[in-house]
Amino acid sequence: MPKYIFVTGGVVSSLGKGIASASIGKILESMGLKINIIKCDPYINVDPGTMNPFQHGEVYVTKDGAETDLDLGHYERYTNAVLTRDNNITTGKIYYSVITKERKGEYLGKTVQIIPHITDEIKNNIKKVAYNKRVDIIIVEIGGTVGDIESLPFLEAIRQMKLELGRGYAINIHLTLVPYIKSAGEIKTKPTQHSVGRLREIGISPDIILCRSERKLTKEARDKIALFCNVDREAVVPAIDVKSIYEVPIALRKEGLDRLIVRLFNLKCYDSDLSGWENKVLKKINHYSKDVKIAVVGKYIALQDAYKSIYEALFHSAIANDSKLVIKKIDSEDIEKNGVAKYLKDVQGILVPGGFGDRGIEGKIIAIQYARKNKIPFLGICLGMQTAVIEFSRNVCGFRNANSTEFNKKTKHPVISLLEEQQKVIDKGATMRLGAYECKIKKDTKAYNSYRREVILERHRHRYEFNNEYRSVLEEKGLIFSGFYLEGNLVEIVELKDHPWFVACQFHPEFKSKPDNPHPLFKNFIKSAIIV
Ligand code: GLN
Repeated sequence: MPKYIFVTGGVVSSLGKGIASASIGKILESMGLKINIIKCDPYINVDPGTMNPFQHGEVYVTKDGAETDLDLGHYERYTNAVLTRDNNITTGKIYYSVITKERKGEYLGKTVQIIPHITDEIKNNIKKVAYNKRVDIIIVEIGGTVGDIESLPFLEAIRQMKLELGRGYAINIHLTLVPYIKSAGEIKTKPTQHSVGRLREIGISPDIILCRSERKLTKEARDKIALFCNVDREAVVPAIDVKSIYEVPIALRKEGLDRLIVRLFNLKCYDSDLSGWENKVLKKINHYSKDVKIAVVGKYIALQDAYKSIYEALFHSAIANDSKLVIKKIDSEDIEKNGVAKYLKDVQGILVPGGFGDRGIEGKIIAIQYARKNKIPFLGICLGMQTAVIEFSRNVCGFRNANSTEFNKKTKHPVISLLEEQQKVIDKGATMRLGAYECKIKKDTKAYNSYRREVILERHRHRYEFNNEYRSVLEEKGLIFSGFYLEGNLVEIVELKDHPWFVACQFHPEFKSKPDNPHPLFKNFIKSAIIV
């Protein structure tokens, strides 16, 4: 029977519940346990795919094509858990399913209510993942902060599950903030006491309290939290700020979180061992011989989370190349206003990420032209490939007004356009080309030299495609088409020959990069950025 760890958060948001959950997963995997991780999001959108990145941050795509919360990206980067659409449960999804059942008459004669119908649906969705994935332990992260109205049904569901499963089968790890008050020169435990109080009001007693703090937890503070929050002293686990998010599993293990979980679940397993992670990731983070400065030219630059997986993938490849990553975030609209050289003259590589809508497009095209002409290593992702094709069509092939029909429906040269099947689509939710598709790679190309494989699987999230009518003209002018989705006759990768490294792909390689296994395209991009 699977065991459940419910992770909740108190005091404030952004404490790193996602990283904590992923780190717990990492520690447990190192003990030989099979784990999986679920994220519950209390918003009413069925998935985050319809939200603006400024609202929600990046939309992470699973291999089966679900648009999910970015925390799933952390789970996949830290662990070997295979995540699918069932790993992200939202209020929208739960209500959608309950209301559909109600219309079918599945609750005939009954008043449909939050308790038990919504809470049962939540519980069944959680259990489904635990059973289908045949895990020893399932970690369930509840989004939001205790005390929010929105997350109450999720908390009620886990309260019931804890009761039903009984001791030894379900625990709650509550992550709180223990702030340091400078003027008093002290850390304060009161916010933690209050947030645990809120949890207990709704019937949940935490088994472990993870105390996020910038300072060391004093013995007095630990004792106080234990006493007032009704947990053992060892169950008050310090989570002191660390330099890198990848250090968190090691820090939590040092504080004894592994042994605590073993005891609470009475587990028979190996001792935890993170030496591989320590050698392959941590040691490299702390030892580098050079810097590598990469420009990311996008339009959601102001928000740290909007290009999360891209920044992480760059970081993984930088450490694999023995270098320290310096990211220069550039708003493509600034390039339109102020010119390009000013922003790009001091960088070693240029990355244009994905995006939607025409704001900032021209700035991206100018940045790509700069990379092409000045032979600066370039990586284009999704919209980054589409804009690279537009740039090449306009400035090399002489198709002056070449564009994507996303930005100009009536363009004379629609080098990027909608496939017929997409033209009929009206709904916006989950209707793009989503998830993993096979890509066949041409030999003797930069793509092949990176992957060293002929067939790869990469994840997608887009509507528009390269327009095959332009393939031969662009090819004649020197654009290399190095990757295809054969079944759909679609272009997946383009690149340039007489350039140190100019590669752009229609898919999102960033979703598959891990700190101990960087993505080959990112790795070679960074490698050439260092060499050039
Ligand atoms: N807006 C483009 C499309 O829908 C690119 C999407 C993306 O970059 N993810 O095709």
